[in-house]
Amino acid sequence: MEHSENGGERVDAVVIGAGMAGLFAARTLAEAGRSVAVLDQDSSLGGRMSTQRFGDGAFDHGAQYFTARDPVFRSWVEQWLKTGLIHLWSDGFATASGKLNQNGEPRYIGSRGMGAIPSHLAAGLRVTLGANVTACSWTGRAWEVRFQQGTSGHRAVQSTALVLTPPVPQSLALLTAGGVTLDATTQAALGRIEYSRCLVAMVELEGHSLVPAPGGLWLSGEPVSWVADNQQKGISPKTGGARLTIHAGKNFSLEHWDADPDTTARKLADVVQRWLGSPVKSVRFHRWRYAAPVTVYPERCLALEEPGRLVFAGDAFAGPRVEGAALSGLAAGEAVLKGS
Ligand SMILES: Cc1cc2nc3c(=O)[nH]c(=O)nc-3n(C[C@H](O)[C@H](O)[C@H](O)COP(=O)(O)OP(=O)(O)OC[C@H]3O[C@@H](n4cnc5c(N)ncnc54)[C@H](O)[C@@H]3O)c2cc1C
Repeated sequence: MEHSENGGERVDAVVIGAGMAGLFAARTLAEAGRSVAVLDQDSSLGGRMSTQRFGDGAFDHGAQYFTARDPVFRSWVEQWLKTGLIHLWSDGFATASGKLNQNGEPRYIGSRGMGAIPSHLAAGLRVTLGANVTACSWTGRAWEVRFQQGTSGHRAVQSTALVLTPPVPQSLALLTAGGVTLDATTQAALGRIEYSRCLVAMVELEGHSLVPAPGGLWLSGEPVSWVADNQQKGISPKTGGARLTIHAGKNFSLEHWDADPDTTARKLADVVQRWLGSPVKSVRFHRWRYAAPVTVYPERCLALEEPGRLVFAGDAFAGPRVEGAALSGLAAGEAVLKGS
């Protein structure tokens, strides 16, 4: 391990975010022989592609499935299919009318939950979880990334390159906190990127649900856009009650953002009452402040050389889904290597 002039650690690249974009970027760099430190504020991997476990139940509470259209991403998907990391869930789901709406496009899921995919990608990488990055500054010779982990106070790591994969407003805030000013055109382009919100109710039932096979419901969007039965999906045990993930629509999420969590979760469960099939045993709640980019940057990543090598990546770069985040991460890794 190298050390910087002030005794802190020094690596070739720091990647902020251990979601799909960050992990793909970090893998690309590590496989090319670069030393990489990945930092994520969460206590688990995957960002918006993670699986929540409570007791013996599991809920995919962010990304529900993914598609693969690009040949590069498809080659990853084929490997994951071969090893059993993922499997095909369906090519469509029932709508409110009960009719199965199949459009022929395969939808894949992690066989042990969506979070299994980032866990697989993180193997062999140096990922520090619970590392809340507070500022990224340029010392004139290197990036200095300051972060806080638990009660251990502030720590810092220095790097030649910096890859930022949090939602864009959060990435910009880290640079601002570090006193880094971007050129006006870049700042304006990134400043335009906004995200919709999503409130999630995670509902445990006493028994099985009435969500039609294979366990997903595409609803009208408001007040609920999606319901999944994680038991039918195969990621929550068959014994015990069903575990449902209910995604609120954008408008409902905005309107109820600050409302009482328990009341809101129960309200969402009431909306989908006809598919519950058995009494509600417990509810949990999650807020995704940056659920999906509303506006997207037209390239797969944005690489800058001023003040130092800096790459913005994530699902706001050319593809607002799991596949887009993965491709953006790959592009970010390549951009760092190209500049080296
Ligand atoms: C409710 C919901 C449903 C979805 N459904 C689907 C779907 O069905 N199919 C699909 O393809 N896509 C879906 N998506 C979108 C998909 O989840 C995302 O496009 C993808 O996971 C984004 O990956 P990412 O790496 O760009 O960002 P993220 O996964 O958000 O990763 C960014 C990471 O940065 C970390 N971070 C942020 N700030 C800091 C900081 N200061 N310090 C340290 N770490 C920080 C975060 O903790 C996070 O882990 C859904 C998303 C949501 C929220």
